[in-house]
Amino acid sequence: MANVSHDLRTPLTMIKGYAEVMRDLPGENTPENVQIIIDEAGRLNDLVNDLLDLSRLQAGVLELSRERFDLTGSIKEILTRYDKLADFSFPFEPEENIYVMADKLKISQVVYNLVNNAVNYAGADKTVALTQEVIGNDVRISVTDTGEGIPQDKLRDIWDRYYKVDQEHRRAQVGTGLGLSIVKNVLDLHGGSYGVISELGKGSTFWFQLPIDKERNDDNESKTAE
Ligand code: ADP
Repeated sequence: MANVSHDLRTPLTMIKGYAEVMRDLPGENTPENVQIIIDEAGRLNDLVNDLLDLSRLQAGVLELSRERFDLTGSIKEILTRYDKLADFSFPFEPEENIYVMADKLKISQVVYNLVNNAVNYAGADKTVALTQEVIGNDVRISVTDTGEGIPQDKLRDIWDRYYKVDQEHRRAQVGTGLGLSIVKNVLDLHGGSYGVISELGKGSTFWFQLPIDKERNDDNESKTAE
């Protein structure tokens, strides 16, 4: 509760402060100041949404609504939404489209969280590379950045709620500290697996794995063969 209150209070303080200054000092009524209010309100919104998701996930009241969907296609679709980040590139060249039986919305959120983190912590090359591999009966999706990396002794903690490697820098303000915790909870609910490989100064690869919806894939193949 203390953590949550603190996190909610910071953007609220900013919003109130800027709004008051703009009311009292006409010269301060600038687009830049309005933008700060909008940004802080956005952050508040993200935080509340993440908190709600996480509490539902952890209370077990959030039921998965599983459906068969094209995981590969949905990742491609998600990546198109990053087009406006003009100086970033998101290479992803899967060999085939793979289907899974999972909660499409929740898995999309996992992909978003991993890609967002990779963007936030990206290296100078501003590249977030995605790969898709078939490992036995599973599909593994990996998201790689060439950013600052994560110290080995912190790799375990980052999946915890509110954990941030860098507590002090401005960067620590970027996220809510809940993203990876949501990733973990969603994948646990699916019985999927996940992990991270990281080297300080070189970058990180976050991955997750889900069972391929094979039966139907085979169906499709036999249909096309007919
Ligand atoms: P946040 O909202 O702070 O990004 P997350 O739960 O998504 O919260 O991540 C927890 C912490 O893990 C981050 O604060 C950061 O220290 C570390 N982290 C996550 N992704 C990366 C990455 N791609 N590169 C470096 N550090 C990362």
